[in-house]
Amino acid sequence: MSIPNVSPITAARRFRSTSALAFPAEAPAADGSLVEVAPGVLWARMPMPMALDHINVYLLRGERGWTIVDTGLNTPECRALWERIASEHLDGLPIEALVCTHFHYDHAGLAGWISERFGVPVYMTLAEFLTLRVLGAALPDPAPPETQQFYRRSGMPAERVARMIGMLRADPFMPPRLGEFRRLRGGDSMTIGVRRWQVLIGEGHSPEHACLYCGEDSLLIAGDQLLPRISSNVLVTPSEPDGDPEGGAERAVAAQPATCWANGQAVRVHGSATKLATSGRGTGPPRPDANTAGARGPLAVAPPG
Ligand SMILES: [Zn+2]
Repeated sequence: MSIPNVSPITAARRFRSTSALAFPAEAPAADGSLVEVAPGVLWARMPMPMALDHINVYLLRGERGWTIVDTGLNTPECRALWERIASEHLDGLPIEALVCTHFHYDHAGLAGWISERFGVPVYMTLAEFLTLRVLGAALPDPAPPETQQFYRRSGMPAERVARMIGMLRADPFMPPRLGEFRRLRGGDSMTIGVRRWQVLIGEGHSPEHACLYCGEDSLLIAGDQLLPRISSNVLVTPSEPDGDPEGGAERAVAAQPATCWANGQAVRVHGSATKLATSGRGTGPPRPDANTAGARGPLAVAPPG
């Protein structure tokens, strides 16, 4: 989850940085409303009860149904909105798959519920799935020593560490267990309806963040990897205390000028505004894990060819 923390200085920078951006569509209200941002690409918002009060989610029209991209938090309100969208807005077609860009609870918190409720497979990268599973397990009591040491080394007083670990243990948005997934790799492509979406991998914000890029239509669904007004939260976690998330972020998504449907706002990004370096993962040899249409799920997912 990316929580903006805007100081006066960053607010001033924000003004300048957004001058290169155009916002081609009005945002939908977080009430189950949908905005069509391209033929067969619908944009909705799920509400969140915090400073960052929404998350963007998308629906991609296929030949026989819709693929959801990202879920919203595990709350009764978000579940009700998905029920409403499914019953009122999908032209009578079913939901047939879910793609989660990354494991954060605002993006994957309802993955298990959507999978079970609509009987659909969940597509994620391996690292995001495993992280969701690990963090979804109950935190031991007392917390593991390395977790406590991580926060103490960061300068946090002991009583605050204890308070924070208590809050983590009582997280009200803990997602229901997701038992299985369909694996996405960087460089894979997903055929959904008439579009072919390339899977681009970013790091830094989360371990193996997937973005979906359709070069033909210059569309990028960026999740939290690319945001319009702030940088993506780059995170060091107790499980990888010596991680290099900044390096990972720099290896993130490289896109051609594209309309980015990112968490926070829809933007059209021009030329040099997309100067995020490529991970290079999409240029490797073909990998043998293609999920073929009809065999393991409704989407044609192919490795780079
Ligand atoms: Zn996130």
